[in-house]
Parts: sequence; C-alpha cells; structure tokens
Amino acid sequence: MEILIAADRIHQRVVELAEQIERDYQSRPVMIVGVLTGCLVFLADLIRRLDLPVRIHLVQASSYRGTATSAGALQLRADTLPDLAGREVLIVDDILDTGQTLARVIETIRGRGAAHIRVAVLLRKKERLIAPVEADYVGFDIPDEFVVGYGLDYNDEYRHLPHIAVLREP
Ligand code: 5GP
Ligand code: MG
Repeated sequence: MEILIAADRIHQRVVELAEQIERDYQSRPVMIVGVLTGCLVFLADLIRRLDLPVRIHLVQASSYRGTATSAGALQLRADTLPDLAGREVLIVDDILDTGQTLARVIETIRGRGAAHIRVAVLLRKKERLIAPVEADYVGFDIPDEFVVGYGLDYNDEYRHLPHIAVLREP
C-alpha cells in the first residue's frame, strides 16, 4: 500500500494541533467526545499532549460501510454521554468526509446542552463535504482516496498501522 502520510509527520502535526487547542481553551475545562472507532489512535495521541483539564467520553458511529466508497445508513450510539449542560465540548474524529457523521454527532451534543462545540479531525477530504460542518482543527487535507491506518479501517482491518496509507480496490 502506498504511504500517504508517514508516522513522523502525523506525530509532528498532532503536537501542533495540541498546541493550538491549548491556546484556544486557555486552561478552561474541556469535555472531549471521541467518535469511535476511527478516533481511537488520534484521540490517544492527542490527549497525551494536552495540558488542560480534560474529561473524555466516547460515542459510537457506524455507517455500515460495505465498500470503500459507499456509506450506508448511519447509526449513532450516544447513550453513555453525560449531561453536557454548560460544557465546552471538543469532538474528535478520524476523518471529515461527507460530514454526515459529524453533523449528527454535533446535533446530538447540542441536544445535551453543550455551551460551545469545536471539532478536531485528523483528516479532511474537502471535495467530498456535503453537510454544513466546519472543523476547527484539521491535521491534513487529503485527496479523495480511501485511506486506512492510524485508526482508520477497511472491514475492521489496518487500524493499527502507524501511518496513513491509500487502499486501492483490487
Ligand atoms: P462522513 O459521514 O463524513 O461521510 O464519513 C465519516 C466516516 O466515514 C469517518 O469517520 C470514517 O469512519 C469513514 N470514512 C470516510 N472516509 C474514509 C476513508 O477514506 N477511509 C476510511 N477508512 N474511513 C473513511
Ligand atoms: Mg468514523
């Protein structure tokens, strides 16, 4: 598989994002909501660079993605989320593609009373975006290719790769 973003570039960028997040929150408490399963590696690396009072919660989004290119109906499980009244929330996800997943997550978190919501994604495919979602922190803009690694899967495989690779369908 062709490596699109090497592990050391990812680490360097995660450090920069953490610095940007620290500057923006200015020591205020932040409730991080990670979107499983893709956020797993990014979230773990990012939170260890944050010198802020942080709480962490997880929601589960799955889109029954059958093939690399088409996503099916979205299922969102957010029943473990606490009351977010008055909280500043930072949503962390792996990739902003069409934006439908994050649009739903944002709507759900707003419904729990969050005072302020920001979004951090490792990757963004700008040309695929259709939902009105803006990410406040973006690791890398990438072309419209299906990628795996650093948390991102194909058929639940490849999440453990330390880099981002392009998966071309056979
Ligand atoms: P969206 O709702 O923005 O279209 O899709 C977001 C979700 O689809 C991501 O959180 C991720 O799980 C999955 N996804 C979108 N593009 C890719 C990709 O290139 N590779 C992988 N592995 N998953 C993707
Ligand atoms: Mg995801």
